[in-house]
Amino acid sequence: MILLRERKEMTEKFKNMETAVIHAGYDAKQHLGSLATPIFQTSTFTFDSAEQGEKRFAGEEEGFIYSRLGNPTVNALQERIAELEGAEAGLAFASGMAAVSAVLVALTKGGDHILCSQGVYGCTFGFLELLNEKYQITHDFCAMETAEQMEQLIRPETTCIYVETPINPTMKLIDLELVARVAKKHGIPVVVDNTFSSPYLQQPLQAGCDIVLHSATKYIGGHGDVIAGLAAGTKEMMHTIAMTTLKDVGGVISPFDAWLLLRGMKTLPVRMDRHCENAEYIVEQLKKHPAVKCVFYPGDQAGKDFAIMEKQMRKGGGLISFEIHGSKQQAQKLLNDLSFIKIAVSLGDAETLIQHPATMTHSGIPEQTRKQMGISDELIRLSVGLEAKQDIWEDLQQALDQLEEAETPVQSHHQ
Ligand SMILES: *Cc1c(COP(=O)(O)O)cnc(C)c1O
Repeated sequence: MILLRERKEMTEKFKNMETAVIHAGYDAKQHLGSLATPIFQTSTFTFDSAEQGEKRFAGEEEGFIYSRLGNPTVNALQERIAELEGAEAGLAFASGMAAVSAVLVALTKGGDHILCSQGVYGCTFGFLELLNEKYQITHDFCAMETAEQMEQLIRPETTCIYVETPINPTMKLIDLELVARVAKKHGIPVVVDNTFSSPYLQQPLQAGCDIVLHSATKYIGGHGDVIAGLAAGTKEMMHTIAMTTLKDVGGVISPFDAWLLLRGMKTLPVRMDRHCENAEYIVEQLKKHPAVKCVFYPGDQAGKDFAIMEKQMRKGGGLISFEIHGSKQQAQKLLNDLSFIKIAVSLGDAETLIQHPATMTHSGIPEQTRKQMGISDELIRLSVGLEAKQDIWEDLQQALDQLEEAETPVQSHHQ
């Protein structure tokens, strides 16, 4: 069965990402000149004859069979993400978690071990627990600041190193080149969840990592209207995943959702530039506000990870987290006092979104582990949108001012 179409030798190589996000993976000439990628909203494909069906299944003839095994709209998307990440091949999934789980299951078997960055997306944490409970696939978290830290935890059974950078929601960075170097020495593949950066800001394969994956729900879709996932890597690895944990587990993307991503991706560089510009401005303002205890942002020159940011990212991204003076109640009050900034999980949308990790995205993690991960009750995560930066700040500022005012002398009186 042919699941992954061979990526055609591009007659035109796209030197710049701004061009690739618009053109890669789609040739209008093959589709009656349609400028937009057609949506092949079909579950199955008809064969001209029984013999043709036999050849398609035998992999002797190229062509589509059934949309779980391959679909032209989905293929265009897969080729585009491969091009953007500088990979041989790409895969699309029904959600970011479908991508995470398909990749992790493909790289492990019962008894294996995963070395994981300290702090991962809440549901990725949940999936690691599930792998442990059901299949005795264990994991260790590692700060990955030095080769020694990693080597202390690498075992003969370690078959995957899984990294998130920036780490959700603390915005700490991991040096991808360092991780790739240590992994190569031990022959272990490195998987990077690149959701927070998108390929425009960071390309993990160029740093020597092996598989990159995304919740395309976030910056790649960019408009808060689709749940989807993507992965990219070598043709061999993507083919293995396509034939097993994609095809047989079945977390495939729908043609319409693939089309939404192809559409959203066209503006990825333009949007990311604005997200970054707005975030940089908000960080500077937050740092000056007396209700704010500290701000975490990879693009902050004063931040401890700034050198890593400069090495592997184009800019600091659109996500900020910050701690306020006070407690969980004050964090909740801040969220409630906002006007157009929306209280919602997810990120990377045109709308500025704010959430409270301790009680929302990371509430499933035991309190002690959560605090070790740096997720305090006063930590707030902000996905800076595309609105005017002055308007975003004005909304935040009035809510922060209210926190300050609520802090009356009576309340802060000590016994
Ligand atoms: C949202 C997210 C996921 C999960 O993606 P879904 O599309 O919601 O399934 C995985 N990793 C990170 C970093 C995310 O932000």
